[in-house]
Amino acid sequence: RLFYDKDCPLDCLKGKTIVFIGYGNQGRAQALNLRDTFKSEQLEPTPKIVIANIKDSYSSKAEQDGFGFTSDWKAAAAEADVLFLLVPDQVQPQLFNELIAPTLQKTACIVVASGYNVFYKHLNMAKSNDVVMVAPRMIGTSVRTRYESGEGFPCFVSVEQDGTGKAWEVGLALSRGIGATKGGALWPTIIATFNEAYSTLKGLGCSDEALVHEMWMSKESAEIFEKAAEDGFVKQLVHHSSVSQYGQLKGSLEVDTTAIKKEFKRIAEERVLNGAFAKEFMSLDRDGPGVERTLEELYAKAKNSELARGEARVRERLGLK
Ligand code: NDP
Repeated sequence: RLFYDKDCPLDCLKGKTIVFIGYGNQGRAQALNLRDTFKSEQLEPTPKIVIANIKDSYSSKAEQDGFGFTSDWKAAAAEADVLFLLVPDQVQPQLFNELIAPTLQKTACIVVASGYNVFYKHLNMAKSNDVVMVAPRMIGTSVRTRYESGEGFPCFVSVEQDGTGKAWEVGLALSRGIGATKGGALWPTIIATFNEAYSTLKGLGCSDEALVHEMWMSKESAEIFEKAAEDGFVKQLVHHSSVSQYGQLKGSLEVDTTAIKKEFKRIAEERVLNGAFAKEFMSLDRDGPGVERTLEELYAKAKNSELARGEARVRERLGLK
């Protein structure tokens, strides 16, 4: 169901200590939003926010933002009533199991922004802990800018473990605090579809300029998705020309979706739900070349696709980076 500000009282957070493990993309945005909400809602006693991070550029940011920081994970965990686990997913199991779980209070609420490590049972938490997922469907910088502009952003919230019986209350209060209740295994297939569409249309004689602008660079598609979010996925079509409306409505019925369906099912069943993807990802650092090196190799391949090479040519011709 959908939750709005009015469904999510903040009272259960009064006087609590909220620890952020990680002050990166999500950690910084969520901590700043929470602090601002506590201030604007005049929540008393004001919850205390503690930032725990390794000493790096992110910890300097925490200091500049007026939070300060600690790298003493055990001490930070010991004082947490709520613990946001916002370090990269591949880092979470070791950091949590070795340096956080031993001192974490048995009734603390653990908050994740991705269900990954909880679903695959990589984190050893006590049965008495609450575990909630508050997962913004938004990159960190936009979690902050959309909070500042008052727009908010969508977010999945779920209770994975209700040790204290209060997990929903806390999860909803945190969702509101970070600004997610203001308004009310897809992407691999989308990337592959864009690549195929690009190559096919290029082969039929479309220029790089026409393709990159038609597909994303004009931002028309971004505008369409904005309208879809505001008006409805189908309803937004009324803003298009009649030819376009006819082409999209009729054409979408004619697409042979057999292969797409098969791919969605394969990714969901044979990669995600059976744990194969998680196993493969976790083994990269343990037995393989490491996440960083693997991402470099995958980026190199992606940059070599016809679509990426076409875009690079257009950007160079337009003098864009
Ligand atoms: P970041 O990559 O921004 O990293 C967060 C912090 O963790 C950084 O300060 C990073 O420092 C630190 N860190 C990295 N390695 C270690 C380590 N070995 N020990 C201790 N600290 C470490 O993370 P994100 O914010 O992108 O992701 C956090 C969570 O949010 C994940 O669960 C992710 O799935 C989820 N999420 C992320 C979204 C996003 O937009 N990025 C969207 C929705 C959910 P340094 O970089 O210096 O190593």
